[in-house]
Amino acid sequence: MKKTKEDRREEYKKLVELYGSPLYVYDSTQIENQIKKLKSAFSGFDCKLHYAAKALNNQAILKLVREFGCGLDAVSIHEVELALLAGFPKEEILFTPSNAPFSEIEKAVELGIHINIDSLSALRKFGQTFGSGFPVFIRINPHILAGGNPKIQTGHIDSKFGISIFQLSEIEAIVKAFEIQVEGLHVHTGSEFLDAGVFLQGAQILFQAAKSFPDLKYIDFGSGFKVAYSESDVVTPVEELGRQLSLAIEEFTKTRNQPIQVWFEPGKFLVSESGTLLCTINTLKRTPSSVFLGVDTGLNHLIRPMMYDAYHEIENISRTGPADHVYNVVGYICETDTLGYSRALPESFEDDVLAIHNAGAYGFSMASNYNSRLRPAEVLLYKGKPHLIRQRDVLEDLLRGQVDFNI
Ligand SMILES: *Cc1c(COP(=O)(O)O)cnc(C)c1O
Repeated sequence: MKKTKEDRREEYKKLVELYGSPLYVYDSTQIENQIKKLKSAFSGFDCKLHYAAKALNNQAILKLVREFGCGLDAVSIHEVELALLAGFPKEEILFTPSNAPFSEIEKAVELGIHINIDSLSALRKFGQTFGSGFPVFIRINPHILAGGNPKIQTGHIDSKFGISIFQLSEIEAIVKAFEIQVEGLHVHTGSEFLDAGVFLQGAQILFQAAKSFPDLKYIDFGSGFKVAYSESDVVTPVEELGRQLSLAIEEFTKTRNQPIQVWFEPGKFLVSESGTLLCTINTLKRTPSSVFLGVDTGLNHLIRPMMYDAYHEIENISRTGPADHVYNVVGYICETDTLGYSRALPESFEDDVLAIHNAGAYGFSMASNYNSRLRPAEVLLYKGKPHLIRQRDVLEDLLRGQVDFNI
């Protein structure tokens, strides 16, 4: 039976009573549904999803997406190690670092996972060290401008990511010189594109480049699927994208004599909507110009509003009634940390519980102990039951790793 909004509010209130505030809550059903949505949109071709672990990397979440049939995209060698601990087979892990030390790439070869090379210099080093002994992906920057906040765009001409498509001949020369086996081409044009056409442009550039690599087995289109941050918000049209891409892949396959598997690396699309940050109003402050709801969380737990000007829907789950009051919802960090400007809510009071929605992706994974504040606990709702998947920090966590200095 589908939960009503009222059921959900009651559930959240109980969770805060049980586990305390603030609290991150993730709903496994939402994650599963998002995976199904993508799989169905891309059912017209051979497709494999690799979850971008950096969005939310609790072991429980990694195991869950593994169970739901995803591989994993890791951006650091430690993320690779976390993926192996969560039980991902090595063939289902792709390592896509940016400016990683070469020792991490050597370690990745040792572990036997897929490796994505991000610069001409790393490609040359790879060739010198491994020759044709281990296959690689090459990350191409097609210089397509996808949408989103400038801080999350990665495809433009000044972006640090990938090897410019204008340097294709240099890639070819290095690959030839060292007989490097190129098993995949990769592109990740940045977060939050909205236009299937722009995505297809990037795809065509990869298809064109693929002609230089006859042994190619995989084409990886990265991610950047946008989710809705409010009810009227626009999202990436994945069904439409799937239809257009199917046709383009069919054409492309005709030009080749071996099949190609298409990979995607969704992060936000899989986990964003599954997550909610629950917090409590500590202080209600009226000033001559506005009314502030000061809550027991802030940019230390959810940095997206301050870092990307991200919008997160905020709901007062302790009150019903018309949203006829306007508040600025602010955090408890000594730094400007507004979580929501001018939000219409029912009349709110101290000790009310607020739900900050869409907080699953880049929420906890970017959380810190800034201001010596403790990071929240994390709870996973799975098969109708809550499971504590991370304890709330304690004081010792703030001291861990520090070395005694006696003066
Ligand atoms: C961050 C990242 C992703 C995931 O992006 P989302 O917008 O969260 O889907 C995928 N691939 C690579 C290489 C990334 O760095």
